[in-house]
Amino acid sequence: MTDDQNSARNPRVIPRSEHRISRANISDNALKVLYRLHNAGYEAYLVGGGVRDLSLGREPKDFDVATDARPEAVKELFRNCRLIGRRFRLAHVHFGPEIIEVATFRALDDPNSESNGDRVIEDGLIVRDNVYGTLAEDALRRDFTINSLYYNIADFSVVDHAGGMEDLQAGVVRLIGDPEVRYREDPVRMLRAIRFAVKLGFKIHPDTARPIGPMAELLRNIPAARLFEESLKLFMAGTALESFEALRKYGLFGELFPGVEQALARDTGGTGVRFISLALKNTDQRVAEGKPVTPTFLFAALLWPAVRDAMQGYLEQDMNEMAALQAAAQDAIHDQLQRVGIPKRFSIPIRELWMLQPRLERKGGRRSLRLLGHPRFRAAYDFMLLRAEVGEVDPEVAAWWRDFQAGSDEERQTMTVDDAPRRKRRRRRRKPPAAAASPTPSAPSE
Ligand code: ATP
Ligand code: MG
Repeated sequence: MTDDQNSARNPRVIPRSEHRISRANISDNALKVLYRLHNAGYEAYLVGGGVRDLSLGREPKDFDVATDARPEAVKELFRNCRLIGRRFRLAHVHFGPEIIEVATFRALDDPNSESNGDRVIEDGLIVRDNVYGTLAEDALRRDFTINSLYYNIADFSVVDHAGGMEDLQAGVVRLIGDPEVRYREDPVRMLRAIRFAVKLGFKIHPDTARPIGPMAELLRNIPAARLFEESLKLFMAGTALESFEALRKYGLFGELFPGVEQALARDTGGTGVRFISLALKNTDQRVAEGKPVTPTFLFAALLWPAVRDAMQGYLEQDMNEMAALQAAAQDAIHDQLQRVGIPKRFSIPIRELWMLQPRLERKGGRRSLRLLGHPRFRAAYDFMLLRAEVGEVDPEVAAWWRDFQAGSDEERQTMTVDDAPRRKRRRRRRKPPAAAASPTPSAPSE
């Protein structure tokens, strides 16, 4: 019998007086859900990140609830409830912007289990998993011991079947059960191990860490959309730089961003790594200051070394700069979509941001004024500043744009007329004044 099975028989029950979780720190909506389930005669527990983070004195991102009520029964209890998920059937109880996720206890993959429902496993990967079970079973099919603590609304105790409280106190991320089996069931657990270790400042237990490198390839079986969601969690939570470094250390970054990893390996000067690191440090700083961060800027930065690398190849084939960049951008996005699917609403602006780079590098001239009004100008400018910091762009260009933005209309005029040879060239190309001044009748005013 394994330790895990042993602990399933003897859960540690930590009474209210011996843990840090207080109802004062649980969201009112989560409490509402817990109490309503409890009053209807069901078991109801707060579980997962909520219990983990509260035990550490941190503020949870969201609250998850586990119960013995079936999803349909949960739906009966809450008007504002939707059943979602195919792989796992879950109830989402909506309170305005807050969603409380309610999951019915699920069983382990045990053919002798008393429980019922259906589970589909293909090549060791769980593709559907609606086998209902008991709390003890549910506890052992969760990923990490620290994610398997249950706060019982009936008596405010914490139920620990997997040794999670000890690991929480020791600062250890440890998979429940046999790590190889657990990674094969769901390779995303490798990314989650990194994410929790980075987020909490924990160590990954050696047994949990060891198979990650050798099994990293399994991430290729995961749908690109799920990996996009997971990447956002890794890179938009304020610990992007550490996540990047840990992902590379464990050989996972190359699975998510193969083109970038190859470019970084070829880039002997290390500019690519410095550029990404700087961008991620910036992102983390913004998160720390409560400023918004966008997937557009983030992915534009992460993929940039791959774009630069591909662009070099096209330039060597005598393509002009814009054409080479266009082709390289196309390649980078196309390759990336095979792994981490970036939705179109981001990939289009990402490309725009890149295509603005050569235009920004040609400072001066009337076009500069027009660029200022471009919806993507600010992001492209910030992007260029990072490039300047790693030596990709002349610092004078960056300084010129800074002054140009800060200047009054008049000052801007003088800044543009300074550039005599450019002005001449542009003048030759300029449209006739009449056409430029008033819109043609056929142009609709939207
Ligand atoms: P956070 O919300 O802070 O990112 P979390 O631990 O709450 O962290 P969720 O993704 O919200 O993570 O999942 C809630 C819980 O569901 C987890 O704590 C874990 O117990 C369980 N869980 C989530 N994903 C998996 C998985 N891939 N395999 C096994 N259990 C999982
Ligand atoms: Mg959560």
